Amino acid sequence: MKTLRSIKKLKTTISNINNLGFVPTMGGLHDGHLSLINKCQKKCDKTLVSIYVNPKQFNNFKDFSKYPRNLNKDLKILKKLNVDFVFIPKTSEIYKKKRKKKLIVNNKKKILCGKFRRGHFEGVIDIIDRLLFIINPQYIFLGEKDFQQLFLIKKHVKKKFKVKVISCKTIRDNNFLALSSRNYLLSKKDLITAGKIAKKINQFKKQIKKNYKNKNNIIHIKKYLIKNYPIKLDYLELRNEKNLCKIKKNNKFKVFLAYYINGVRLIDNY
Ligand code: AMP
Repeated sequence: MKTLRSIKKLKTTISNINNLGFVPTMGGLHDGHLSLINKCQKKCDKTLVSIYVNPKQFNNFKDFSKYPRNLNKDLKILKKLNVDFVFIPKTSEIYKKKRKKKLIVNNKKKILCGKFRRGHFEGVIDIIDRLLFIINPQYIFLGEKDFQQLFLIKKHVKKKFKVKVISCKTIRDNNFLALSSRNYLLSKKDLITAGKIAKKINQFKKQIKKNYKNKNNIIHIKKYLIKNYPIKLDYLELRNEKNLCKIKKNNKFKVFLAYYINGVRLIDNY
C-alpha cells in the first residue's frame, strides 16, 4: 500500500492506471467504509482511498474538532485490506487554488441536511470536485447512508466528469443502527437508544406504506420519538427516493431522519 500525501506524488503514481476506483472518506473507518472498499476492489484494478476531514463541510467548528480521527488505526486497516493507495491531502494544498466561479449546488440543497447544516453540501461538492479533478478515477464509490449527499454528487459529476458513481447499501450493526464514524462518540447506552430508534423508524415505514399520504402518521411518530427518547430532532420526512421531492403520486419513498443524541448528530434513511 502506498501512502500519498502530496498531489504531485499522487499524480505521478496513478498516471498509468486505466481502471481506478476511488473511495473518499473522512477516516474513522468502520464496516460501512469497508463495504465500499470491498466493492471497489472487486470492480477495479486498483483502489484509492482518501482520508480527509474536510473543514469546509462543517458548519460548526466544535463538530469539526471533535470528529473522530484515528489515522494510525485507519492505515493499519487499509493495509490489511490490501488497498493500493491512500491519499491524505493537506488543507493548504487541496484548497490552494481558489475557484474563479462560485460552485452552485443543485436547488435541492435547502431541504433535509441542506436546510439544517448551512454550507454543508457546498463544502462536500467542493472537496469531491477537487478530488475528482486530481484523481480522475473511472469509478467513485459512495454510500446510501448519506443519501442526499449521494444524490447531489451524482447530479454534480454528471455535468462535469466521466466518472461512474457506484452507490453502496447502508451497513448496520446488530441493533440495526447504521454504522457511522460519529457512533464512536456515543456511549453504550446511546448506541442502544439509537438502535431502538432505527428499528422503530424502519417499522414505521413498513406500517405506512399503504397510507403514506396521511400527515398524522408523521406527526404521531415525531411526537413518539421526542417523548420516549432523549433526542433533539432536526427532521423526519418522507421524500421521493428518485428526486427527493415531497411525495405525491407514487409510493417509492424513503424516510429521512436526522437528530442529536447527547450532542452527536446522526442521520439515516429507510
Ligand atoms: P464518511 O467517512 O462518513 O464521509 O463516509 C465515507 C463514505 O462512506 C460515504 O460515501 C458514506 O456514505 C459511506 N458510508 C458511511 N457510513 C456508511 C454505512 N453505514 N454503510 C455504507 N456506507 C457508508
